[in-house]
Amino acid sequence: MQRVQQLRPLLPKGHVSYYKDQILVTKGEGQFLFDQNGKKYLDFFGGIVTVSVGHCHPKVNAALHEQSKKLWHTTSIYHTEPIYEYAQKLTAKFPDPLKVVYLVNSGSEANDLALALARNYTGRFDVISMRNGYHGMTQTVLGATNLGNWKPVYPHGFNIFKSLNADPYRGIFGGDKCRDSPCQVRNRKCACSPGKCEAADKYIEQFDEMLLHDFSHSSGPAAFLIESIQGVGGTVQYPKGYLARAYKSIQSRGGLAIADEVQTGFGRLGSHFWGFESQSAMPDIVTMAKGIGNGFPLGAVVTTKEIADAFNRSLYFNTYGGNPLASAVGKAVLEVIEEEKLQENSANVGDYFLKQLDSLSESAIGDVRGKGLMIGVELIDEQGKPLAAAKTAAIFEDTKNKGLLIGKGGIHGNVLRIKPPMCITKKDVDFAVDVISKSIKQFK
Ligand code: PMP
Repeated sequence: MQRVQQLRPLLPKGHVSYYKDQILVTKGEGQFLFDQNGKKYLDFFGGIVTVSVGHCHPKVNAALHEQSKKLWHTTSIYHTEPIYEYAQKLTAKFPDPLKVVYLVNSGSEANDLALALARNYTGRFDVISMRNGYHGMTQTVLGATNLGNWKPVYPHGFNIFKSLNADPYRGIFGGDKCRDSPCQVRNRKCACSPGKCEAADKYIEQFDEMLLHDFSHSSGPAAFLIESIQGVGGTVQYPKGYLARAYKSIQSRGGLAIADEVQTGFGRLGSHFWGFESQSAMPDIVTMAKGIGNGFPLGAVVTTKEIADAFNRSLYFNTYGGNPLASAVGKAVLEVIEEEKLQENSANVGDYFLKQLDSLSESAIGDVRGKGLMIGVELIDEQGKPLAAAKTAAIFEDTKNKGLLIGKGGIHGNVLRIKPPMCITKKDVDFAVDVISKSIKQFK
């Protein structure tokens, strides 16, 4: 604590600090973190959904170590074996025609490049992103990040239009019975007739209206950039069928669908490797980061040959993108997900987790949602309004004191975000559910 207090002034004030009583993290192992006093924490946030296969995984460590003895860096002007091996392994995870990969260093950079690809291919400039979505902090993608009122006054990503947030819990068209999956959570069996969801209908109607009216004469937007499930926004799942229909709407008008899989990708949702697949939607461009490298700086954009070829008329250069170390790590992460069946674990343990959370009787739990190991618990007060930020912060601080690290988010800061490394067990879940329940009881 003392050391954190001493060193804190060296970082800018705006640097996000999660806790009132900060911890100094010194070690990570699997799903656990340790502080300087040796206190052990169950890490159910994984550095914001980044540690996908567990802290310091031996196989990933070994891959990094082995590669570090051979070659660190060349810049993409020379070709290296690791980038090809990785590109082959990564693109094998995608359906046709998504088979060309650009390697970058972060999620913001991936989305930045995705917008450039879309604008170049379509010859259009306007873009749509969804309210409450998060896509990064470079100046361009900041314009597509639509959360809160903290954005800077300097110009950022202009000509980015905002679609309605298709949120079945707080959104204007309701639809909490029509959530994509799993509908059984909180007994919310979908009440709509098969293949038809009223909330999705209304949000799509509005989306189509927007496409018709908001863009200059015949040229519509270049792209719709959207997370497959909103992450920072508080694990918001769209009403059933929304994503696939919105993709089709934009694609039928000559624009591209860009799936931001920075949080939802790599098997986290359990049923599918990618979030868009879990909603039967087919994008033109997919962006990835975080879990792709288990904490190593790595991001990627996967697209079609046609879209990539069109980009060849301009130069694309990235000093570190696809460096041998990152490529070796990325490949090892994919191997671990397969070998340790972590996607299956996300499905099984995630399902168990959602049901355990759902069975809690705390009145402050307004909503339990998510899929696999991407989970949100929305906290409310007696009037059903978002729980006061101070109370949520107290709950959050208390879970940490009890040895459990989780995240928070949502526009009102009242959603507990739970996205652990995918190697967790049901025993870990039992511990976490017990802590969450006790902390809510004590501080709501
Ligand atoms: N997209 C999503 C969905 C994210 O959650 C984030 C990071 N929170 C980003 C993009 C940006 O990633 P990075 O911080 O690596 O730039």
